[in-house]
Amino acid sequence: MLIVMRPEATSTEVDGVLEIIKKLGFRGHVMPGATRTAIGITGNKGSIDPAYFENLPGVADTIRVTKPYKLISNDLKPEKSSIKIGNSVIGDGSLSIIAGPCAVESPEQVFAAAEAVSGAGAKFFRGGAFKPRTSPYAFQGMGEEGLKILAEVRERYGLNIVTEAMDEHGIDLVEKYGDCIQIGARNMQNFALLKYAGKTRKPILLKRGLSATLDELLLAAEYIMAEGNYNVILCERGIRTFADHARNTMDLSIVPAVRRLSHLPIIIDPSHGTGHNYMVEPLALAGVAVGADGLIVEVHPQPENAKCDGAQAITPTQFKQLYTKVMALHQTLTPASQPAQVSPH
Ligand code: PEP
Ligand code: MN
Repeated sequence: MLIVMRPEATSTEVDGVLEIIKKLGFRGHVMPGATRTAIGITGNKGSIDPAYFENLPGVADTIRVTKPYKLISNDLKPEKSSIKIGNSVIGDGSLSIIAGPCAVESPEQVFAAAEAVSGAGAKFFRGGAFKPRTSPYAFQGMGEEGLKILAEVRERYGLNIVTEAMDEHGIDLVEKYGDCIQIGARNMQNFALLKYAGKTRKPILLKRGLSATLDELLLAAEYIMAEGNYNVILCERGIRTFADHARNTMDLSIVPAVRRLSHLPIIIDPSHGTGHNYMVEPLALAGVAVGADGLIVEVHPQPENAKCDGAQAITPTQFKQLYTKVMALHQTLTPASQPAQVSPH
């Protein structure tokens, strides 16, 4: 059930509703919006009698939820959410670019990539210290040493750090050194990990699973939010299909599909989505054209020497060109409008 508060409802009235929800043994999730606050209720098995709430001061309406998700839903928060990451934001109407190598390999490699990423104008840096590799014999990442290098990137370049965690210990470490915790495609349905991520207060970049449906992606985000972390950004990174001309098939139609159902921002990963250097720029532009809130792109100072995903890495020169083009396209397509409200959570 969703409780919609009157626009003029006070925080005492919101607290009054939360108290009843708690007494019933459920959990209330307050979602302040541009025009009104709504409260989502989770933890209930069946439907809740609206009579508990409808006459409480400040309550405008109670809405029974018929969809499988509540907190990600437009019904709870009609306007788009924008999520603060470090000193910047994703989902405020601007185009957010996250770029950097697939894996942290050495300080020299990371600083060269960071130079290129910040030089082009991007605000977010990526790089994995924990790598989910198909083969156990492939490079697994530098671990905490790698996170320390990323923290140094933030100090030197002012870039906000987005980096993957694969287990609970990894989440604790990324919380310490990074600005945004990436949950990779292979862990999208690791429900224990999603719950743990929901208990942190760092924003989560949640990548779509290798063969996940839209509902499965949204429910994975719901797992995180149900634990109280409302700062979730979705990411389309390609799915597995019969097509073999690309590493994965970019499913760009998921962007408008997400928009129709959810207030969460969604970004596009044309690097894992295609697997090929020459496809990254065209699919990045396509992602902007379908209205993504941003891009995550792999950039390596020397792709031919990359320890991981070299075939899809673009060079600093190519990144500069991509950055200029995607920004120009975004500007052309975006009507001058008010930036979305920044989530207070
Ligand atoms: C990555 O971003 O480096 C990565 C491993 O992505 P994905 O989980 O989408 O494969
Ligand atoms: Mn990669």
